[in-house]
Amino acid sequence: MSKTFYIETFGCQMNAHDSEKVIGTLEQQGYARVQDEDAAGLILYNTCSIRDKAEQKVFHRLNEYKRLQGEGKKFAVLGCVAQQEGEKIFEKAPYVSMVAGSASYRNLPEMLRRLEAGEERITGLDDRQTELTFETEFTARSNPHRGYITIIEGCDKFCAYCVVPYTRGKERSRTAASVMVEAKKMVDLGFTEIQFLGQNVNSYRDPSGRMSFAELLVAVGELPGIRRVRFTTSHPRDFTRDIVQAIDDTPTLCDHIHLPVQSGSTAVLKAMSREYTREWYLERMSWIKAAKRDISITSDMIVGFPGESDADFEETITLVGEVKYDAVFAFKFSPRPNTPAVTMADSIPDEVKSERLRILMDRQREIQRTHYGRHLGEVQEVMVESYNPSRNQVVGRSSQNKTVNFSTAQIVQAQPPVGSYLPVRITQTLPNCLVGEAIADAEAMPLVSVQGGLDFVVLN
Ligand code: SAM
Ligand code: SF4
Repeated sequence: MSKTFYIETFGCQMNAHDSEKVIGTLEQQGYARVQDEDAAGLILYNTCSIRDKAEQKVFHRLNEYKRLQGEGKKFAVLGCVAQQEGEKIFEKAPYVSMVAGSASYRNLPEMLRRLEAGEERITGLDDRQTELTFETEFTARSNPHRGYITIIEGCDKFCAYCVVPYTRGKERSRTAASVMVEAKKMVDLGFTEIQFLGQNVNSYRDPSGRMSFAELLVAVGELPGIRRVRFTTSHPRDFTRDIVQAIDDTPTLCDHIHLPVQSGSTAVLKAMSREYTREWYLERMSWIKAAKRDISITSDMIVGFPGESDADFEETITLVGEVKYDAVFAFKFSPRPNTPAVTMADSIPDEVKSERLRILMDRQREIQRTHYGRHLGEVQEVMVESYNPSRNQVVGRSSQNKTVNFSTAQIVQAQPPVGSYLPVRITQTLPNCLVGEAIADAEAMPLVSVQGGLDFVVLN
C-alpha cells in the first residue's frame, strides 16, 4: 500500500476537528495527504449519523469506492456510522479494512501498523466506556488563524432522539493543564482565535479539579495574542451564570452563546428527556440578556418529535418570538437507530414536519430581519475570511459570529489579508448578514477592544 491518503469528512465541527487530528496522526506516521482519491493508497471516510438516512448514504458512497478496490487501495470507515454499524460494514463492503469510532482514535497509530502488516478486519469499536480522550500534538489544522480544541468528548445526557451517546461514548473531559498547553502552542503558531468544542462543551469538568469551564475560558482568553475565544455547543442543563459573567468581564470571549432549546413546549422537552422546562430555559435567557454586553443567542430546534401537537409547536413559535434568536438551526425529527424515540408512538407525518419547519424558519427570518437592525451604525471588529470579487467585498466574521460583507475601498490599497482584524461600520442589515464599510479609526470602536492594533497598513 502506498503511504498516501485521501480523507472525506461529513458532519459537525467535532467531526471536522477529529479529521484534523486523524490527518495529523497519519502524517506523523509517514503518510502524505493527497487531494484526489485516485492518487491515494488509503481512503478514509469520516462519517456522521446524526440525522436522515446516514447509513444508506455511507453504503452508497462505499459502493462508489468499489471501482478502486482492484488497485491495491485500502479503505477505512471512521466516525459515528462506523461505530453504529460496526462489523456490518465489512459484510456489506468487504473491501473495507478498518472500522473505527471516535473513542478509538487514540489507538490509530497501532491500527495503522496492523493495516500496513496486511490485516484485513481491523476494528476500533470497544472503547465507548473509556475515560481517555484523544490528545495529540499532531493536529493538522486547516485554518492558520482560528482553530478548534476539543475540551470534552462524548455525552452522558441520552436525549431520547440522539445517537451521540451511543456513537461517541461516555462523557470525559481533558485536564485544564493539557488544554492550556495546546492553547499556548496555538498562540505561538500565530492563531488568534480558539474555539472550544464539545457535544456539551459547558459540561466540562476538569479531572484535576483546578478550573471550572468559565475559568478555563477566561484563562485562554487572557493569553497574550488571543483575540477571540468561542465555545460550542452548550447544554442548558449545565449553563451557569459565571459563563455570562466571564463574557462580560473578558473582551476576548466572543459575545455569542449557542444554547439549543430543541422545543418550546415543556411536555415535548420532557418526552425528549431534556430535563429542563420552558421556564427554566427562559431563566437562562434572562441571565444572558441582563449582561452588559449584547450577547448574541442562537439555538437548535427539532420539529415533529413524536407526540408534538399543534399547541406544542405553537409554543416553539412563541418561544422564538420571546427570545429573538440571532440564528436557529431547525431540523425535522429523524428517527435514529438504538434511540428511545424510535419506538415512541404518535409519529408525525412528514408533510406536517415539513410544514412546521417552514413556519418556524419563516418566523425566524422575520425576527432576524428586524432584530439585526440593532447593529445599524455600530462599529464592529471583523476578522477577514475571504474576498468576493463579483461584489468587490471582503467577507468576514464578527465576534457574534455574524457574517459581515464590507468594502475597504476607502481605507486600504490592497485587500486585507485573511485572518486580519479591522473595524467596520455597519451600514445595512439583512436577515442573514451585515453589510458595512471598513473604517480607519480604531478609536471609534466602543464595543470591542482591538488588541495590538490593526494588522495591515491603513491609508488615512
Ligand atoms: N449536545 C447538543 C445539545 O444537546 O444541544 C447538540 C448536539 S447534536 C450533535 C446537534 C443537533 O442535532 C441537536 O441540537 C439537535 O437539534 C439535532 N438532532 C440530534 N438528533 C436529531 C434527530 N434524531 N432528529 C433531528 N435532529 C436531531
Ligand atoms: Fe445528543 Fe442530547 Fe447529548 Fe446533545 S445532550 S449530544 S442532543 S444526547
